[in-house]
Amino acid sequence: MFELFTPTFQANSLDSISIERLVQHGIHGLIIDLDNTMTPWNDLEVGPKVVAWFEKLQAAEIKACVVSNNKKKQRVAVVAERLGIPFVFRATKPRRRAFRAGMEILGTGKEDTVVIGDQLFTDIMGGNRLGLSTILVLPISEREYFGTRVMRRVERVMIWLMKRFANAKPHSPKAH
Ligand SMILES: [Mg+2]
Repeated sequence: MFELFTPTFQANSLDSISIERLVQHGIHGLIIDLDNTMTPWNDLEVGPKVVAWFEKLQAAEIKACVVSNNKKKQRVAVVAERLGIPFVFRATKPRRRAFRAGMEILGTGKEDTVVIGDQLFTDIMGGNRLGLSTILVLPISEREYFGTRVMRRVERVMIWLMKRFANAKPHSPKAH
C-alpha cells in the first residue's frame, strides 16, 4: 500500500536532479508534471535554472514530455513550446493511461522512463502503479512562500517593535 506513495528518489527541485545520474541509470525519457514542478502553480514563467536544466537534458539526449492534469490547453502548451518539448494536458493522473500517453510520445518504455512531480497522489502514485521510477520534488510555490513567510514574520516583529516604541513614549498631556 505505502509503496505506491513512495518515490524512488526525492529532490529539492527539478533543476537539482542530476542529469549525469539519469544518464548513468540508462534513462531516455522523462514524464514531467507542470504546476509546481516546472513553474509556480498556474504561472507561465519558467525560471532560468529550469531553462538551463532542459538545455542540458537535450544535450544529454534525454527526451522530456509534460504530462499535466491542468485542463487549460493553452497554459500547458505555452510552457511546453517555450522549452521545445511535447505535452499532454488534461492527463487524468494517477490513471495509467496518462503515463502511457507520455511514454508513447517519448518512444520509451518502463525501464528507461522516469516520472517527476510534486504530488504523491497523482505523479508518484500514478508512476508507481505502472512500475516506472519516480522522483518527488518539493512544490515550487511552497518554496517561494517560505520566503514570503519569513518576510511576514519580519514584518510582524517590526510592527510589534513599533507599537512598543510608541507605547514607551511619554503620554502626551491630556487636554483638560
Ligand atoms: Mg504539480
